[in-house]
Amino acid sequence: MDTSKRKAIFRRRFAKVVDALGYKFNPDEEMVDFLLEQEVLIERKHGSPFCPCQAITGDREKDMQNCCPCIPFHRKHFDYMKQCWCGLFIHKDVTDPTQLRQIPASEVPD
Ligand code: SF4
Repeated sequence: MDTSKRKAIFRRRFAKVVDALGYKFNPDEEMVDFLLEQEVLIERKHGSPFCPCQAITGDREKDMQNCCPCIPFHRKHFDYMKQCWCGLFIHKDVTDPTQLRQIPASEVPD
């Protein structure tokens, strides 16, 4: 399957999943398109659309926790940032994602 078709499938599939989790796609179309393309390439190489912004460790169980959309595995962290680690998805209530920033998980209060 060509990259554009696979990206479109990811887009439709991911939209449904993240909607139920209270997230939406980042409105920055260029960034979204770039990240989805990376995920298609990663899936081709590694068999699953692992996160383009996090290292693949080779430990399948660990890596599956960073398979997109990985929000359920990092809920507290991402809810605190109001975005996923890559910024591909943001909280539905965010209107200006340029104000968001990555915050290390270690800095998220208990
Ligand atoms: S951080 Fe975002 S882009 Fe990366 S796998 Fe998780 S949900 Fe997908």
